[in-house]
Amino acid sequence: MTVTVRFAPSPTGNIHIGNLRTALFNWLFARNRNGRFIQRFDDTDLARSTQAFANQILYDLHWIGIFPDAVEYQSKRFAAYDAAAERLKSAGLLYPCYETPEELELRRKVRLSRKLPPVYGREALDLTEEDRKQLEAEGRRPHWRFLLPNFAADPHETQRTEISWNDVVRGEETVDLASLSDPVLIREDGTYLYTLPSVVDDNDMGVSHVIRGDDHVTNTGVQIALFKALGAEAPAFGHHNLLTTASGEGLSKRTGALSVANLREDGLEPMAVASLAVLTGTSGNVTAARSLDELADEFDPASSSRSAAKFDPADLVILNRTLVHELPFEDVRDRLMALGVKGEKAEAFWLAVRGNLDRVSDAAAWWRIVTEGPEAGAAFTDEERQFLRAAFDLLPDEPWDRSTWKEWTGAVREATGRKGKALFMPLRLALTGRQSGPELADLLPLLGREGTLARRP
Ligand code: GLU
Repeated sequence: MTVTVRFAPSPTGNIHIGNLRTALFNWLFARNRNGRFIQRFDDTDLARSTQAFANQILYDLHWIGIFPDAVEYQSKRFAAYDAAAERLKSAGLLYPCYETPEELELRRKVRLSRKLPPVYGREALDLTEEDRKQLEAEGRRPHWRFLLPNFAADPHETQRTEISWNDVVRGEETVDLASLSDPVLIREDGTYLYTLPSVVDDNDMGVSHVIRGDDHVTNTGVQIALFKALGAEAPAFGHHNLLTTASGEGLSKRTGALSVANLREDGLEPMAVASLAVLTGTSGNVTAARSLDELADEFDPASSSRSAAKFDPADLVILNRTLVHELPFEDVRDRLMALGVKGEKAEAFWLAVRGNLDRVSDAAAWWRIVTEGPEAGAAFTDEERQFLRAAFDLLPDEPWDRSTWKEWTGAVREATGRKGKALFMPLRLALTGRQSGPELADLLPLLGREGTLARRP
């Protein structure tokens, strides 16, 4: 059987790093098993879902390097969900309920006061045809609940019913169906909650592994029962731990916190984002993989811890830096061009500065320093200025290469008696305006003799 996974966000906002974790767990899992990856948009909520968000999600995935084998929209599959709902209804497994949220809340309180579990008491099962007509005549519309198979003969006498599976991430998992309320599958306005469409799709689309956040563990118990009720075989399941912000708050598409789009706009490398999205909260070392293939080689879904993991954007910059320091010119040529870094010096420039950058975009400031002049001039004392003037008078003749710096500073040391920091720092400041940065031996040939002389204070 071909391993088939899916990533199933609702297109109601931009995906964040936690959603990306789910996408990558699926992608890497499939990649390691020659599997297929389906991009499924859970857009049954027609009011909140938009094609623009779906497109943005696809764009975010492409940026990371995830190219789905198929793209599906739940909004195009209502007929399949209606057919499944009809089958459940005629089997008596999907039943209409008329309680308002207030009535349900009141019943819940009563059950709690009687030390009963606060689950739905299945009162609607006892409604007669007559009662239902009466309620509908009052203007009530039904919502529909799935009758969980947690009883022997009488649905009012539930008994412990364990649904167990070998979780791809968490190992042996068990949910007791008697601890749950019959889940609502269809709302009063006729719209579907995600529970049933997801099962219908996973079955129709041949999904072999459902990998998602551990906020779905309980749903899995329900959905395995639904697969059975529909006469289908349940796929394997895996539930990874969720990511939170550095201060421990949950991530939400609504707030836009740590959205993939924001991280991209912040100039971060896709592999820094991907590496941290996957490796945070696992027992593996958090290092930057250079490609998804490399990340896939290290990927072990079972290495995720069971508790939520804090995602610290500061770590992202650390990983980003290590990737940028090694990026070959070929890989950044176009991005540098967009920053205005072009021409015959571009490659040498990149190789000179990359080791000092947190982000590729930081190259723009160094390019201005090299081509236009030092950053906001350092204020030199008279003594420093005198020293610098003497030093600039000793600049060797061209042609210049990497050895020119050594030759020049050797001559300056000889003539002025300065050495170490006292020698290099004023030169660095005069040439760049910054106290630290790329090797001056590399920068000097890029400035050229004329460009260097122009910086004589
Ligand atoms: N749309 C659901 C969610 O984003 C999908 C859950 C699942 O993968 O089954 O939570």
